[in-house]
Amino acid sequence: MAVRASFTDEVKAELANVQPARSCCQQAELAALAEALVGSPDGTPVTLRIPRNAVARKVVHLAKVAGGRVETVRKGATEKRPSYRLRLTLPAGRGSVDSCCARATLRGAFLARGLLGNPADAYHLELALPENGATLVAAAAARTGIPLKSTTRRGRTVFYLKGAEPISRLLGLMGANRAVMRFENDRILRDMRSQANRRTNGETANLDKRLRAALQQREAVRRLQARDARLQTLAPALREIAELRLAHPRAGLKELAELAQVSKSAVANRLRRLVVQANRNGLID
Ligand SMILES: [Zn+2]
Repeated sequence: MAVRASFTDEVKAELANVQPARSCCQQAELAALAEALVGSPDGTPVTLRIPRNAVARKVVHLAKVAGGRVETVRKGATEKRPSYRLRLTLPAGRGSVDSCCARATLRGAFLARGLLGNPADAYHLELALPENGATLVAAAAARTGIPLKSTTRRGRTVFYLKGAEPISRLLGLMGANRAVMRFENDRILRDMRSQANRRTNGETANLDKRLRAALQQREAVRRLQARDARLQTLAPALREIAELRLAHPRAGLKELAELAQVSKSAVANRLRRLVVQANRNGLID
């Protein structure tokens, strides 16, 4: 189980910027963060130690908007990896039993204690939680149908997920959409590489090149979709290829040409135009 920090950091940075709009969800996320970090934050102010700037900022924001109070904010001594000590009075409300709050609870707990393996290495996600936080997370997972497994380690409940599909689903539920995209792309590359094990190096290099192009095309389509969910502003021929690319992320030109019943060069041309269009709208970083 190799859990690298990099993908975890990336996902937390994204989740720190997901701001729940409803006050029930703001309360639920803050409660989950606090319970995951310190266990039992009932009553008087709690002190939370948070290693990430973006997460600390989010906690301060949530406390303010959800009806709590920020007593003090202290920055830790080390400059290299700053940590923050926040002293908060939490709001009285703890969120609702609706699914919106289940998602917020999972997001808060992950921000506090989540670890995620790099999808190129391992499909592994875990949350090591003290007792109260564990109860909250188990209930939220049950409400959203996420099949978390659990074990205990040094007095903590460790929830974990293995397998690309459930991890990707949990990331999506928490609102980490960019991470889902990266996760799926890495997963497809990994699966294809393992299938290509017995091929020659030259063939593998070609396959990688083809796949990277396919993934770039799919990402372009998704970005276009973010602006126009049903791709209705695209010309019909482009829209058809866009939908085929989404439905068949690994298909080569030949396969797409057969599905669309046009020539390979027409498919290549339309895919190029889709990528150009996504670029022109400033949708690709
Ligand atoms: Zn809610």
